[in-house]
Amino acid sequence: MSNKQTGSCLCKSVQYEVTVESNKVHVCHCGICQKWHGGPALAISCKPDWNIDGESNLTWYKSSEHGQRGFCSKCGTNLFFKAPTAGYYGVTAGTLDNQKDLEIETHIFIDKKPSYYDFTDKAPRLTEHEFLEHIGAT
Ligand SMILES: [Zn+2]
Ligand SMILES: [Zn+2]
Repeated sequence: MSNKQTGSCLCKSVQYEVTVESNKVHVCHCGICQKWHGGPALAISCKPDWNIDGESNLTWYKSSEHGQRGFCSKCGTNLFFKAPTAGYYGVTAGTLDNQKDLEIETHIFIDKKPSYYDFTDKAPRLTEHEFLEHIGAT
């Protein structure tokens, strides 16, 4: 999988090129992601040098003190998450044009996951506390 990846929203008003850090997807089961995605979030980390075509169609929503979420104003596709103070930038895995080499690396906020679904992969599952400890936020 090359480092440069392209993707878009459903209506293609927003198209992007990003430098992904790996083919690893993290799955977030937190309550904010549940609301925003309508289910768990599947995201892939990238560098902040993303190139966005159709940026005027992109709306940023500040979902927490540090996090901002970007979506297409025309079709509502959830595209980006950034937490600049934590140095984190990510795109939603499902909006990438090429998803065939993606692998799940980790699940976070597993203690917030509703019980009606489960993933079958063997990736590590971190609770909110373990995750915050992992990123040095406690
Ligand atoms: Zn769109
Ligand atoms: Zn989340």
